[in-house]
Amino acid sequence: MRPFTYERVSDPATAAQAAGARAEPASYLAGGTTLVDLMKLDVMQPQRLIDINALHDTDQGRIALRPHGLRLGALVRMAEAADHADIQREYPLIAQSLQLAASPQLRNMASLGGNVLQRTRCTYFRDVSYAACNKRHPGSGCAALAGVNRMHAVLGTSEHCIATYPGDFAQALIALDAGVDLIGPDGPRTIAFAKLHRQPGDRPDQETTLRPGELIVSFAVPAGPWTRRSLYLKVRDRQSYEFALASAAVALDFEANAVREARIALGGVATAPWRAREAEAALRGRIVDDQATIEAAEAAFAGAQGYGHNDFKIELGKRTLRRALRQAAAMEI
Ligand code: SF4
Repeated sequence: MRPFTYERVSDPATAAQAAGARAEPASYLAGGTTLVDLMKLDVMQPQRLIDINALHDTDQGRIALRPHGLRLGALVRMAEAADHADIQREYPLIAQSLQLAASPQLRNMASLGGNVLQRTRCTYFRDVSYAACNKRHPGSGCAALAGVNRMHAVLGTSEHCIATYPGDFAQALIALDAGVDLIGPDGPRTIAFAKLHRQPGDRPDQETTLRPGELIVSFAVPAGPWTRRSLYLKVRDRQSYEFALASAAVALDFEANAVREARIALGGVATAPWRAREAEAALRGRIVDDQATIEAAEAAFAGAQGYGHNDFKIELGKRTLRRALRQAAAMEI
């Protein structure tokens, strides 16, 4: 591991000022479950670490459930939110997306803010002995295109990168139209969660729209009649401590027996948190029967492209979404 300096801060504004105060690359340290791994692998090389764990004692470490929605501080640990009885009842999609991720030890350690910023698991990105990786070294190429790409994305890819966004919680946030509160050297701002991540395009190294030194303070999830009838379905190679091959975040609101509003996101298959608006439109006003779920799944994957080893994800993703829709429609709330 390369040398770095270490600082501790105790409030968000001081953290943002500290990050913006000097030219050397700085990273915020919360749970460290991604960052420290990648520093050991020499994939990430921050010269300064700014430890923000003391902020857990501020609003950044709190969960607030109010009539208009749910606020999750960015330093809330994954397990705290996953095990929260009110979240399990009112926002089961959020609780399940966290419960089905990582291992108990990691969920106890990892923060929600760090979780949404986790880096891809692409082998060629994480192993610096591979020279061709546009995400690590812009312009160097992409070893995965002609390499082993079974775990890679089929939606939102480009000729420069096909790496899968690995997170689960982010699919819940994008499906439920969450917002993100940020603070940076220039002050606070709020953006839609859907605007936080970027698709790779011709700059796979630029994964988010965060400005230099910006820190996630909290997530705000609006209340809605769809949040109780919601779930997260994750299909993976083994039933524990594994990333998704395909997943679906689904929230439904019914009028009589027909869908008034559907919110759908897809994980394990795309380069960024992925809202499936075409599938939502296909379901609006429909009874959730076989034909409706088939049409929704076809719409969700209409633009999908396989790269050889990962071709199976297109069919798996459709089946995962269809199953999630059937299960959500059958929920008793
Ligand atoms: Fe790098 Fe992306 Fe290609 Fe993986 S898929 S080798 S992260 S450029």
